[in-house]
Amino acid sequence: MATEGKIQNIQNLTHNRTKTIIVTGGAGFLGSHLCGRLLGLGHTVICIDSLITGRMQNIANLESNHRFSFIQHDVINPFSTSRSIDEIYNLACPASPPKYQLDPVHTLKTCIEGSINMLEFAQEKNAMVLQASTSEVYGDPNISPQPESYHGNVNIVGPRSCYDEGKRVAETLFHEYHAEYGVATKIARIFNTYGPNMDPEDGRVVSNFIMQALQGEDLTIYGEGEQTRSFCYESDLIDGLIALMEGPKDLTQPVNLGNPCEFTMNELAEIVLELTGSKSKVVYDPLPTDDPKKRRPDISTALQCLGWEPKIPLLEGLQPTIAYFRQELEKSQQHAVKAS
Ligand code: UDP
Repeated sequence: MATEGKIQNIQNLTHNRTKTIIVTGGAGFLGSHLCGRLLGLGHTVICIDSLITGRMQNIANLESNHRFSFIQHDVINPFSTSRSIDEIYNLACPASPPKYQLDPVHTLKTCIEGSINMLEFAQEKNAMVLQASTSEVYGDPNISPQPESYHGNVNIVGPRSCYDEGKRVAETLFHEYHAEYGVATKIARIFNTYGPNMDPEDGRVVSNFIMQALQGEDLTIYGEGEQTRSFCYESDLIDGLIALMEGPKDLTQPVNLGNPCEFTMNELAEIVLELTGSKSKVVYDPLPTDDPKKRRPDISTALQCLGWEPKIPLLEGLQPTIAYFRQELEKSQQHAVKAS
């Protein structure tokens, strides 16, 4: 009886055992939330970030946790450690169009060489590795919503190609390392996500509109504003990433993660003006080349295989997001006063 009890305890321990987990891009918007969540679940977290777009302020509240460590490293270079590693979330890559277009060759290297380095590292450590892919693999889609079976409509040589094609190759690498070498892989296709820890300067629509509204500046709508996006709050997305990592081992095909509620940019501008109480006006600027006209995830795979779906509607998630940007603005104003 005593032995049986011991065996049961060991089995429970093995099942619930805390893990050592690497998050690349861990100082970025989503990476920092993922690190925080994994620490909260009792895991040991090694955050790797090149700090090209990641920001130390995103992980400042994690640094006092003894199970957290930070390593400044660019995934385009091989990574090694003597420690045992159970899981790797490969989130490293600039994700906002103006940022990933600053150094397109480096963006491609991050997607391709970064993936190879992390896959080889996972193989060496016998660790499960999850790739943060993107809805950008669908390019400017001809069908909506986009299921995982849709192969996309991507310009090979446009301003978005370094990211879109880089992420497409990364998916192929994950697929082949699994098929050829048996590496345990997962692929999450992440749709537009927002929330605290976004860089106010990153040029994406949610950060731009909120920052403009809070400062009484014109909201810059690109094109006619009738293009759509579907916005997912960060905590829902983090739930999805963890559910996928912990989900069925044979679920190695790409899985869409995003919120299927779709909005035009005109609607988003109206909502932001309403929630911020801003008197800003909207202006219409030229639409960037290859800007997708529609984007909305079909999340039936995530729902059926992981029991995951987002819970937080846009109007609810925008409130803490606006409060965060308000704080960021106050901090930078205080900084400017001190400096003058
Ligand atoms: N957009 C906009 N105004 C801005 C920034 C972006 O109208 O100040 C539009 C952009 O053209 C795109 C959508 O908002 O149609 C989402 O852009 P974002 O850069 O956030 O992400 P994307 O989904 O294009 O990668």
